[in-house]
Amino acid sequence: MCAIVGVVNSQDAASIAYYALFAMQHRGQEASGISTSDGKLCTIKGNGLVTEVFNTESFKKLKGDMAVGHNRYATAGSASAGDAQPVAISYALGELSIVHNGNLVNKDEVRERLVQNGAIFSSNMDTENIAHLIARSTKATLKERIKEALGQIIGAYCLLILEGDAMYVVRDRWGVRPLSIGRLKDGGLIVASETCAFDLVGAKFIRDVRPGEMLSIKRGQSEFASEQLYESEPRICAFEYIYFARPDSVIEGKSVYAARKLMGAALARAGVPEGADMVVAVPDSGVAAALGYAKEAGLAYEAAIVRNHYVGRTFIEPTQELRNLKVKLKLNPMSSELAGKSVVVVDDSIVRGTTSKKIVELLRTAGAKQVHFRVAAPELRYPERYGIDTPTSEELISYRLNCDEVCEYIGADSLEFLGLEALVEALGDERKYSLVSFDGDYFIR
Ligand code: AMP
Repeated sequence: MCAIVGVVNSQDAASIAYYALFAMQHRGQEASGISTSDGKLCTIKGNGLVTEVFNTESFKKLKGDMAVGHNRYATAGSASAGDAQPVAISYALGELSIVHNGNLVNKDEVRERLVQNGAIFSSNMDTENIAHLIARSTKATLKERIKEALGQIIGAYCLLILEGDAMYVVRDRWGVRPLSIGRLKDGGLIVASETCAFDLVGAKFIRDVRPGEMLSIKRGQSEFASEQLYESEPRICAFEYIYFARPDSVIEGKSVYAARKLMGAALARAGVPEGADMVVAVPDSGVAAALGYAKEAGLAYEAAIVRNHYVGRTFIEPTQELRNLKVKLKLNPMSSELAGKSVVVVDDSIVRGTTSKKIVELLRTAGAKQVHFRVAAPELRYPERYGIDTPTSEELISYRLNCDEVCEYIGADSLEFLGLEALVEALGDERKYSLVSFDGDYFIR
């Protein structure tokens, strides 16, 4: 999972891209980067949070009225700065910079073919495939070369491609990852993964980029040109609403916060444990769903688990031992509120089961009499392959164990997941969603 942003025709292009990336830090904390253009391209990128990668010196170099930026999500075992984006290259037509949110499912085949034909790769990123395909195309314009490259890749993608005086925007035909376009106060245009970025920089939402659509935005032109490259078959990723996106973002006309509250309410309608005293959320991911649950159940919502917001990336280590420690560092249940109480605790999802097991333990240590765990998503059984870094099936606890067994593993008095139908109903059943994590329907092959 990643965040992307593009800015065209704004004197503050680099700082707007920076603040937009800052607003979307939740989508990726591994690395960050910005390319700008004043006719010539300049790129600064590196490992770390947005605030760690850029400083005042960066903005002296990042000149121009156009920019693209990227936050990279931590994928296990690949933390090299070479995997930071934008991917910036020089090729036959000049320079370009690419940022990508998604995942190409045929990346290994494409890469192998390119390598067999002499391509030299400098990173592990699937995005570099696209750069090579564009560079090797013989079409006369970048736009034509992008189209030719797209014909060879299969996957979920939102792409921004910057050249000296234009930016191209593409979203795959399913629109798996979100992407919206907005108008800046100075008349420039901004494209971003999430609308929460528009709020921070004072941009006005225009519309979502359509699945299968390509936008061309030129320097000095206040409007953008649109072309439908592929027939739209919308399948927005349900996990964006469940966990990934910020609650203050609106995706495809639906508020993420409102969707989460509806998911929580649906969980409550499926049954409230007898004698429950209160509802608590696992902060911050479970808060909106817990509020929806509490209201529907007619129970008090208590912020009885306090989160430490300053747990840095240092602790995001892939070993089980450190993951255990991380939960304790991050979350502290208050005995004053919990002692002797029967508690319904709501979280957005169970992946490996580590967090929920630890939370149940911490709640019991804080004196809770009963702990009823409620999950505002269906059971995660399949790895997501369209841009979210979920582990292999074997690591997903709900792949190995049924609901009762998971309940026993995490040590809760009861456990309920949101049903798949209830999820779709909460999101609005007039549309189709990418539900691969839950139903294993890998519709992009
Ligand atoms: P686990 O301890 O592996 O069961 O993780 C569950 C927690 O991770 C939940 O509280 C979720 O908010 C969060 N989560 C869900 N999906 C992801 C993901 N793809 N990457 C990181 N965290 C996640």
